[in-house]
Amino acid sequence: MKLLEERIVKDGIVREGGVLKVDSFLNHQMDIALFTQMGKEFARLYDGCGVNKILTIEASGIGIACIAAQEFGCPVVFAKKNKTKNIAGDVWTSRVESFTHGKVYDIIVSKDYLKAGDRVLIIDDFLAMGSALKGLIQLVNDSGATLVGAGIAVEKAFQPGGDLIRSMGVRVESLARIASMDPESGVQFVEE
Ligand code: 5GP
Repeated sequence: MKLLEERIVKDGIVREGGVLKVDSFLNHQMDIALFTQMGKEFARLYDGCGVNKILTIEASGIGIACIAAQEFGCPVVFAKKNKTKNIAGDVWTSRVESFTHGKVYDIIVSKDYLKAGDRVLIIDDFLAMGSALKGLIQLVNDSGATLVGAGIAVEKAFQPGGDLIRSMGVRVESLARIASMDPESGVQFVEE
């Protein structure tokens, strides 16, 4: 998606260690006009797939998921990052390793909000090692819901997550795919 690629080039900051900071329009301050265009693109890509629920993970996936959900006319469920071992109520749970924070945590979704019969689109801001997406996919599979696919804002295609998830047979649509980046030369995108 040209608009997102151009914005990454203009306002993204490449950090050492393969981290892209996009706080000015995506991860801290949020550009809702841009999110609206991203939501429309996800809706176009997954048109006719019968999506009736969007699943994301707190915190930075929530904004994009909510704007996209307006296009699909469906609710958003966000997986919570669980802090205590004693989880209240009846929940689906899986484990995620954070690339940016170097931590392992459990994620949970209430069984009330993810069920057999749901047709789920997973939305997230970044795809890097694939751990967050894999954790979300496991929640969907455990619940008996149907996974339609994943919609990602920024895929760092030089990291293994995208290949890993696609090799599991999951449809992954990323709006910007970064082939390489470094602080000196900036960001290069995958040629489509
Ligand atoms: P993964 O589990 O695929 O390694 O990473 C996905 C999660 O890590 C995303 O939800 C995002 O929050 C965070 N993340 C991974 N790489 C980056 C990055 O380069 N920049 C930012 N801002 N977040 C990242």
